[in-house]
Amino acid sequence: MINIPKGTKDVLPNESYKWQYVEKIMRDISKAYNVREIRTPVFEHTELFSRSIGDGTDVVSKEMYTFLDKGGRSITLRPEGTASVARSYVENNLESLSLPLKMYYMISAFRYERPQAGRLREFHQYGVEYYGAQSVYLDFEAISLAHDILKGLGLKGILLKINSLGCPECRKKYVEALKEYYLKHLGEVCDTCKDRFNKNPLRLLDCKSPICKGIASNAPRIQDYLCDDCKDYHEKLCGLLKSEGIPFENDPGIVRGLDYYTRTVFEFVTSELGAQGTVCGGGRYDNLVSDIGGKSVGCVGFAMGIERLIMLLEEQNAFSAELGPDCFVICQNEECIRNGLRVASELRKAGYSVDCELTGKSMKAQFKYADKIKATFAVVIGEEELNKGTAKVKKLSDGIETECRIEDLAQHISKRK
Ligand code: ATP
Ligand code: MG
Repeated sequence: MINIPKGTKDVLPNESYKWQYVEKIMRDISKAYNVREIRTPVFEHTELFSRSIGDGTDVVSKEMYTFLDKGGRSITLRPEGTASVARSYVENNLESLSLPLKMYYMISAFRYERPQAGRLREFHQYGVEYYGAQSVYLDFEAISLAHDILKGLGLKGILLKINSLGCPECRKKYVEALKEYYLKHLGEVCDTCKDRFNKNPLRLLDCKSPICKGIASNAPRIQDYLCDDCKDYHEKLCGLLKSEGIPFENDPGIVRGLDYYTRTVFEFVTSELGAQGTVCGGGRYDNLVSDIGGKSVGCVGFAMGIERLIMLLEEQNAFSAELGPDCFVICQNEECIRNGLRVASELRKAGYSVDCELTGKSMKAQFKYADKIKATFAVVIGEEELNKGTAKVKKLSDGIETECRIEDLAQHISKRK
């Protein structure tokens, strides 16, 4: 017996409808915003991620699935979607199209993490990227798109937290102040934070250990270090969200795990999934495209974790039960099966979803099966009916049975729906 690799999951036939429900809402709302899909490869050259996400981040330093291919190239399974989209944008000269360019992706991503509920090694993300300007309206529209999706899914109790990480100039001053503060506390923080102090000081604010959290709560705040332009930009975004009635909270602790962010960062969080409470994270990244060799362009984007959304929907009992097929065609014997298959095919052409007996079960077992798969109607093709050119139609919810000519079945069923 070969088992599934640690940190991965099968989506079984009885739960895939949940994924399809979530994905459909994401695709429909993307379309409503005229955001179009982009598809990129599952693997990229390792350098793309180390350069864009940043060597000092957890994702690049600890979590990547990296290997040498048979040609000796270092390849990495994508740990996220943004870097690949940026690579594709530059490589395909998408900047020559009229901007802004609004794209979404629906992908699996891979991170070597310690698996737990809502934290997998292969997980799935829906993400959006807006390319084209350092305009706060892009930030606003991307956030409202994410908000519409979470609302469209029917989720409750999700909070939007926003922050500004400033531009490279004001962030530099802030990071200096942050390091000065942490220098006094280096003896108290956890080992990971000691490492962060050198490699990625902003991440000190994001530590989940209680002692580090306490130290972070008294750290200098980025708000006090923003330059005038960054401050105005952030205030404008807050104003837009307020006037659109999108509730939010300013949270200086939102720093995000990846290096490429500038100014706006945000997360949608829930208190219902423990340490895996972030269902969506994103922000502005004005330097990413130029960092990987393209012409500088203002961008903003976000990614949602689909597993976490599905867990939350389950927790909140927000999924309706899966619908069964409209009809199950019950066949008394083999000759009836041959006719039943034709009946099923005609009903499918008329737009019904139809399942038909295929395995030689008894009539009783077939009725049981029709109930089990939650068919609305059982269409019965028996020897007697076949001789008359008719079929019986039984609605399984009330047991009422009617009979009609085989050629009239589609119409007959539509009247009884
Ligand atoms: P976390 O702080 O929970 O590790 P992150 O900051 O690493 O999240 P991002 O890189 O921003 O996550 O990815 C966007 C979203 O993808 C997250 O908000 C989360 O919903 C989801 N996600 C990230 N890593 C995983 C994972 N290992 N398993 C399941 N979902 C994940
Ligand atoms: Mg992470």
